[in-house]
Amino acid sequence: MTTDQSNQRDALFNRLQGCFLSGPKSNTLLGGRTEALRRLQSYDPASYGSTRNHINSNVSRLSPYLRHGMISLTEVRDHLRSKFPNDPARLEEFLRQLAWRDFFEKVLTWHGYGLDEDLEEPKHGVARSTRIPLDILKGETSLPCIDGMLDDLFENGYLHNHARLWFAAYLCHFRGVRWQEGARLFRQYLYDGDIASNSASWQWVESTFANKPYFMNKDNIANFSNGKWCNSCRANCPFDADYPTLQQRLFGGSIAPLMSQAPANVMPNENTLSTKNDIPDNIAPLPPSTDLVWVHDGAMSCADNYLALNPSAAVAFVFNEPELKAEPWAFHRLAFVADGIDDLFKYLPNATKVTLVGDPVERLTTLANKLGATTIHLSEHPNPWVINTTEQLQLNFRVIIHPRPKFAEYTLEPKRFSRYWDKVAKQVLGHRPKSSNKRHQ
Ligand SMILES: Cc1cc2nc3c(=O)[nH]c(=O)nc-3n(C[C@H](O)[C@H](O)[C@H](O)COP(=O)(O)OP(=O)(O)OC[C@H]3O[C@@H](n4cnc5c(N)ncnc54)[C@H](O)[C@@H]3O)c2cc1C
Repeated sequence: MTTDQSNQRDALFNRLQGCFLSGPKSNTLLGGRTEALRRLQSYDPASYGSTRNHINSNVSRLSPYLRHGMISLTEVRDHLRSKFPNDPARLEEFLRQLAWRDFFEKVLTWHGYGLDEDLEEPKHGVARSTRIPLDILKGETSLPCIDGMLDDLFENGYLHNHARLWFAAYLCHFRGVRWQEGARLFRQYLYDGDIASNSASWQWVESTFANKPYFMNKDNIANFSNGKWCNSCRANCPFDADYPTLQQRLFGGSIAPLMSQAPANVMPNENTLSTKNDIPDNIAPLPPSTDLVWVHDGAMSCADNYLALNPSAAVAFVFNEPELKAEPWAFHRLAFVADGIDDLFKYLPNATKVTLVGDPVERLTTLANKLGATTIHLSEHPNPWVINTTEQLQLNFRVIIHPRPKFAEYTLEPKRFSRYWDKVAKQVLGHRPKSSNKRHQ
């Protein structure tokens, strides 16, 4: 980073005071489409199918880039299919995992803010608390595996999928905490912190979006972590039992469903409308009938139609201050997004490009009025705050929502992945699947 860029970054984080947790780290993940493409091009999922459940397997680590739309699911699929045209078996399991992401996005599209509440009754009757115990928040549970996972979460912003499942099962079933609290912690610290894949996966573990709760035992952790923690562990291990014993211990004979206690949705609060002065005074009005393009944090790619079709529009990214104040992100997450904005703006020919901090509706309205823009473009996205913002902008502007390329066509209610996969596998893989459905995510 040049001194100029580093000063600009400092100024941005000054404007973001109150929106982030902890501070800069030396080993942060580089955000942006350029890095996403570099990773995709060097990735070969050769051993993925047979090893993906092991925490040291050859996973792609593409999720932070997919989450922020720096690269799309269809680009990843199409690239791999054209790179390995004669080797469908090499790709099958990896493409099936991409489909899990698409499935969860469809779940979010279907339920919107409702995904923050139990989608189904839990398949057990055990009570849940609304607080994450302090030893977990401090990463000092005295269980080396769980503390190791928490260290990865807080320090590296990444957990392998299997570790996410273990931690989620630990928090919900072994410590009796509501899944929503864990999902919030993940959103704050994971580089790929998401609504769709995150909330739906937590619900899958809790059994409010699955037919039974997911939990693991010590053998499972030891086996899929190669004994990383278990070999030298002296703790009194709560996972050290066979499955029937654990099932009895965790759920007893309970079958009575528990009523959900969903939190209020985090909605932008009108009283927190920003009065920030981050729109430059000397910003020139646009020529008549020129438009404004709103880049949100789910569509940060210069290849997206909504940007490519509007090379002379003004472009604005808005950090959603009211939401970030209600649920601050780790510094590394925001830095990743800031990298993504820098990288995006570098490749856009548009003359006017601004990064704003505040309430998105207020900031975009003020900017559009100042520029004389009457039309606002954005990329379609299922995140409820994007939909909510769009609806409010539509009251004063012509808003054009550009569709994203479809990964798979599926119009039924997305209830279970197996049903969805039965219908879409051929579209995604380009042939009928060779392996059968597996329950494990
Ligand atoms: C409790 C829990 C919470 C999760 N929270 C998130 C989250 O906030 N954001 C997020 O992007 N993913 C989340 N996942 C899904 C999954 O764990 C990550 O997408 C994956 O581990 C990312 O690593 P990767 O890119 O190396 O994956 P790879 O194994 O390389 O897989 C390739 C891509 O397939 C998709 N994918 C793989 N596994 C899954 C899965 N189980 N569900 C959905 N998509 C999948 C991802 O887009 C991933 O980038 C969560 C899973 C669990 C169990």
